[in-house]
Amino acid sequence: MKEIVGRFAPSPSGRMHLGNIYTAVLSWLSVKSRGGRWILRIEDLDPQRSKMEFARQIEDDLHWLGLDWDEGGIDGMGVRGPYLQSLRHDLYEEALRKLKDTGLCYPCTCTRADILATQAPHESDGRVVYMGTCRPRLLPSPYKEKAGAAVRLAVPDETISFVDRIKGAQSVDLHRHCGDFIVRRGDGAWSYQLAVVVDDAMMGVTEVLRGDDLLLSAAQQIYLYRLLGYESPEFAHVPLVCNEAGIRLSKRDKSLSMEYLRAHHTPEEILGMAARRAGLIPAEAPVSLSELLECTLRKIRSK
Ligand code: GLU
Repeated sequence: MKEIVGRFAPSPSGRMHLGNIYTAVLSWLSVKSRGGRWILRIEDLDPQRSKMEFARQIEDDLHWLGLDWDEGGIDGMGVRGPYLQSLRHDLYEEALRKLKDTGLCYPCTCTRADILATQAPHESDGRVVYMGTCRPRLLPSPYKEKAGAAVRLAVPDETISFVDRIKGAQSVDLHRHCGDFIVRRGDGAWSYQLAVVVDDAMMGVTEVLRGDDLLLSAAQQIYLYRLLGYESPEFAHVPLVCNEAGIRLSKRDKSLSMEYLRAHHTPEEILGMAARRAGLIPAEAPVSLSELLECTLRKIRSK
């Protein structure tokens, strides 16, 4: 039987909050209840927002809660490392070369303002859809290098379908959802979509459990898996934790940040908060990780 491999992939741009803990706990339980391996990967692609001190704090918070990883982390020495995205440039470069070889990539010099100017009025939910301004008339066609240009990948004329373990069957039309998307920015920074696919594939991840704000991104990622010749993992997108106003938690919600939570609660109390929100326990009460693991195993066995 194939080994189950899950991962937690935080961006070190601030202190974690209850929402991050919720995702980490569910991913850890899902993997551990089936005897799998759990990887910690630090997604520090954005040099402006990522700080090593936040990465260290994330590791410290996870240890404090008992959420230990089998592989990865800042000093991770596992065979599939390094586990910091900022150190994985050569692997992304190789994947980009493969994508360019498909003839489906093209250089793009559109600014954000250019793209916003082409948006149809119904795209008012903040989603930016690329309308294909720089797309060559004929594709596939060989990639023509252009200094300072972003590399865009043409999306296919088809609906990407997949079954999410939590959200069920999904069908995403990439033309309508995002249009041709960037795999490498003009300033050389790697896109999240490319890096996450290369990393999950090369780290042998079989299950991607994360917040449902990334549900539609899974379609872009499935397309990349296919072009790069990798097998897609299973996806499970969990609802985001919201504050009392019903708005998804952000780093601004201080009372649910790990800094505040650690100062006022025990690890078991915090695990209880996450477990209650996940419906693993009926009411908020302190609970240990081993109790949660037991309760997850009971749920699996009774299915
Ligand atoms: N690094 C992303 C975040 O912290 C998570 C990406 C993923 O799990 O695919 O939101």
